[in-house]
Amino acid sequence: MNRIKNFFSSFLLIELLKGMALTGRQLFARKITVLYPEERTPQSPRFRGLHALRRYPNGEERCIACKLCEAVCPALAITIESAVRTDGTRRTTRYDIDLTKCIFCGFCEESCPVDSIVETRIFEYCGEKRGDLLYTKPMLLALGEQYESQLAQDRACDAKYR
Ligand code: SF4
Ligand code: SF4
Repeated sequence: MNRIKNFFSSFLLIELLKGMALTGRQLFARKITVLYPEERTPQSPRFRGLHALRRYPNGEERCIACKLCEAVCPALAITIESAVRTDGTRRTTRYDIDLTKCIFCGFCEESCPVDSIVETRIFEYCGEKRGDLLYTKPMLLALGEQYESQLAQDRACDAKYR
C-alpha cells in the first residue's frame, strides 16, 4: 500500500508542490535576513566580542593583577605577569590574550572584581598570521580607551538587570 502511495506521490510531484507552497508562503512573510555589512542586527550589551582592558576616569589602570581571570580561563588563553610599583600597588607587567585559544565564554569578564577585562562589541577583526591574534596589554588598553564610552554604557545597562 505504501509503495502505491509513494508511486503516486512521486508521479504527481507532491513533494515538489509542497516545497513550492512553502517558498510561496515565505515570499510574503516578514524578512528576517539583513544585507550585511550595510545592514546590521541589534547587539546585546552583553555581546562577547574582542577583549579590552579599561582604565578609571583619572587614567589609572583598573587591573590590580589579582589573576582571577587567568585562573578561571578554561582555554588557558590569558597570561599575566605582575610587579609591585613604587607606590606599593600591584600592576601587571604583562597581560596577553591568545585569541586563537579563546572561546569567548566571558568567564574572565565575570570574574574580574574591578571591571577591568571586558569584552567589547567588536567582532570584525582578523589576523593573517597566528601572532596577529595575540593581543598584548598595550593593545588591550588602547581598545579600552577607544571604546570606553560604549563599555561604560553597556556595564551600566547590564547592572540594571542583574
Ligand atoms: S572569554 Fe573565556 S576563553 Fe576567552 S580569555 Fe576570557 S575566560 Fe578565556
Ligand atoms: S583583569 Fe581583573 S581579574 Fe584579571 S588580573 Fe586584572 S583585576 Fe584581576
